[in-house]
Formats: sequence, C-alpha cells, structure tokens
Amino acid sequence: MAWIKLSDDYNDHPKFDCLSDGAFRLWHQAIGFCRKFQTDGLVPLATVRKFQSYSPKRVTELVTPWQPGASPLWVKVEGFGFRLHDYLIWNLSKEDENQQRAESKQRMALGRDVGVRNALHMRDGVKCRYCGIVVSWTDRRGPRGATYDHVDPNGGSLIENLVIACRGCNSRKGCRTPDQASMTLLPPPSNVELRSDLNRTQVLPDKSLNISGMDLDPDLQESTAIEKPFFRGERRLEPFPPDDIADRAAQLLEKYAELFQKYRRGAKYHRRDAIDFPKACELVRTWTDDVRLEKLVVMVLTTDDPWVSRTDRGFGIFVVKASWADDLLKQWELENGVTV
Ligand SMILES: [Zn+2]
Repeated sequence: MAWIKLSDDYNDHPKFDCLSDGAFRLWHQAIGFCRKFQTDGLVPLATVRKFQSYSPKRVTELVTPWQPGASPLWVKVEGFGFRLHDYLIWNLSKEDENQQRAESKQRMALGRDVGVRNALHMRDGVKCRYCGIVVSWTDRRGPRGATYDHVDPNGGSLIENLVIACRGCNSRKGCRTPDQASMTLLPPPSNVELRSDLNRTQVLPDKSLNISGMDLDPDLQESTAIEKPFFRGERRLEPFPPDDIADRAAQLLEKYAELFQKYRRGAKYHRRDAIDFPKACELVRTWTDDVRLEKLVVMVLTTDDPWVSRTDRGFGIFVVKASWADDLLKQWELENGVTV
C-alpha cells in the first residue's frame, strides 16, 4: 500500500482552514488518487467529476487562492484537469519511487547473496574503492562507516558492479555512476596490498565461489591459513558463518525489515546489512526456532516499554532486547499454559 505524505500541521494553514468540509474531502480524494496511481500530482478533470465529493463549487474553492497572490491548492492544467500544488515537494515522483524500489530490490538481493558479499570482501579488502580510506564495519553513521556501493545504480547486485565504499563516498555518489558523480573508481587492491592491509591474516578464497576478478595469487590459495575472513573491521575478524546460519540470518534481516514497516505504520526502515548481519548470525545461533524469533521481533516492535519505545527500534535494539522479549514470552506461555 502506498502512503500520502502530509506535514503534521498542514491542516492549520489558512488555505485549508478556509475550505468547506466538502472541498476539504475532495482535496483528500484527489491526493489519494495521485498517490495510488503515481500521477505525480496530476488529476484529470474526468476523474475529478467521478469523485464522491465532487461538485463544481468545491472545485472552484480549490482552484481559488485563499488570499490574493497565494497559490491555489489545485492549479488548472489546460485541456487536462488539475495539478495539486506542491505535491512533489511532499511526495515521491513516480520515477523516484521506481528508483527506490529498484534499489531496495538490489539491497534485498545482496542481503540474500552471502556468496557475493564474501567475494567482495576478499576482492576489496578493508579500503574504500573511491577514496582509499580504511572503512569501519562498526561505524553505523559516520562517513568512515563501510557500505556496499552499486557502481552503476541500475547495474544489479553482481560482484562486477559492487564495491566496498565508505559512507561518505557512497552518499556523495548517490544514485549516479562514478562518471556522473565525477568520482574515480580505484582498482581493487593487489594481493600484496591486501596482505599488508590485513596484516597477513587469513585471506583464503572460497574455491566454491569461483568468481572472476578475485585474482588471488597462487601462494595465497595454497596457504594453509585457518579460516576465510568475512567481517574485516579494524578490531575483529570473524570466520564466515556456515551456510545454514548465514541463510537464516539473511532471512531474519529481511523479515525484520518487513515486520518493521508493518508494525511501525509503514515507517521507512534503513537496512544496515553489513553491520547487522553478524548480529543476526549470533541470534539465529541462540534461537534455533525462526518462528519464535519472529514473535520476539513483533514484541520488540510493538512494546510500550519505555526503554524500547524511545529508540528507533532498529535491529541493534532488537539484538539487545531479544532475551528480554523471550523472557516475557516465556512468562506469558507459562500463564496461559502454552507448552513450548
Ligand atoms: Zn571513500
């Protein structure tokens, strides 16, 4: 379902205050129509005439400025109908919305594809492919925080189109190619650089991945080093989780994003897979029952507990409060005679 965006004080403005109830309803019907059919704020006259609240008098109210020199709520578009004033300031255009959907699809695909992420880490190491600084996997907001960037925003989540980038470079680049953003994509680090960056730690290619562009040297492949790296933060280097754990963790993150929007009344959820994935792995290791984990997510998203309700209820909060929710659930199950 799509949502209309209105500022919380829109109703106080004299331009709405002076409308009749009928015109006020008609305005809402029109904005709902624009949102639903992604018309970028345009409503044909024929459609307006079909609205329940339609009357010529109400249309006249809407196209008349509330005071001389002010903009009317509806602007007449000759030979077509009307354009809702300022619609695109508060609502996404069709193009932007489609773009966002495509990006979110890409993110989800990447969230599921642990193999691609693994290969990316092995190819790019620990530095931003645009500015070369060492990125931080524990920095959630700052410019040095690690992100995955789609080199061509429309190019899909293939290893060839993905690079590790610092958050600063990623946001500067936005939804543009490096050329469009006048940024230079640096070549992947050489094996020597990788080795030195990782202090000669365990760079072992996952032979099953066989992804072109990895180009790790034969010595390294022959190495008997212990485990494949996955999270290369400055402080910790964790082994790549087994497939079943990685799959369940990726599913949990997806589920969390889905439930967040459902239970937080459509609020936008900012995924931070690179940061949350290791935590999700820990959670699915602790709770082997995915259905129970889902129940715990719903509890954390809906609780009135002040400790939780004052936060953004992001995945990090869930990680902290999962045991607490589990205790509550156990207590409820006990009181209601539910056998676990
Ligand atoms: Zn950078």
